Amino acid sequence: MISINGLSKHFGKLEVLKDISLEVEKGKVIVVVGPSGSGKTTMLRCLNLLEIPTAGKIAIQDQTLDFSKKVGQKEINTFRKLTGMVFQNYNLFPHKTVLENVMEGPIVVKKQDKAAAKKKAEQLLSKVGLEDKLDFYPFQLSGGQQQRVGIARALAMEPEVMLFDEPTSALDPELVGEVLKVMKELAKEGMTMIIVTHEMKFAKEVADEVIFMDGGYIIEKGNPAAIFTAPKEQRTKQFLQLIQ
Ligand code: ADP
Repeated sequence: MISINGLSKHFGKLEVLKDISLEVEKGKVIVVVGPSGSGKTTMLRCLNLLEIPTAGKIAIQDQTLDFSKKVGQKEINTFRKLTGMVFQNYNLFPHKTVLENVMEGPIVVKKQDKAAAKKKAEQLLSKVGLEDKLDFYPFQLSGGQQQRVGIARALAMEPEVMLFDEPTSALDPELVGEVLKVMKELAKEGMTMIIVTHEMKFAKEVADEVIFMDGGYIIEKGNPAAIFTAPKEQRTKQFLQLIQ
């Protein structure tokens, strides 16, 4: 369903993604781990086209972008709709209510009519356990609740793939579970997901494949049991020793 081929990203002279290639089947959950600065966030941002790759190809379903050629804004906008992004710091609109946050994308980007967008937003907010918070503003919610709004907002765009960039790392420990629970449910429903996280227990339970990145490269990938109990690469071993 997703095919990344020879992807690279430079910031000026700094190459932060180097020849990344990856295939993800529909319905699979991929967890990306690796030290800070290894390029995990940049890889997700490239998939969502918040960053434009310097070279390589990304295909999602039947749409392909080839970054060795010039890619137009229209193609970017179309492609971006295939992915939904959940950010570390939620990135909610502070002056909009919970319901409005979730309705905004479908109305503005997908040109859905307001009643349909509202109905869908209510359904999604109920799915993430926030049916009683529709008229609250983000500042009136806990971090865990805000992140669940973030997930509902991404789902409202009906993406093919959900991308999570350290969705629980800004949360107090007691709020992490409620967000992971929603993510587990999505995985169970067959959503294709790529998740950057330091939650190793979650990765072991939910991931179909774990990818270890370092220095802009994918160093190693495999099923969680293989990566966590018998990593092949020295750098993976060192990293896991530090965090486990
Ligand atoms: P990770 O998510 O693994 O911590 P990042 O993808 O955030 O890694 O960062 C990879 C590298 O790219 C780091 O060296 C970081 O400083 C650099 N980087 C990320 N974003 C930018 C940017 N907008 N401009 C310049 N350098 C950046």
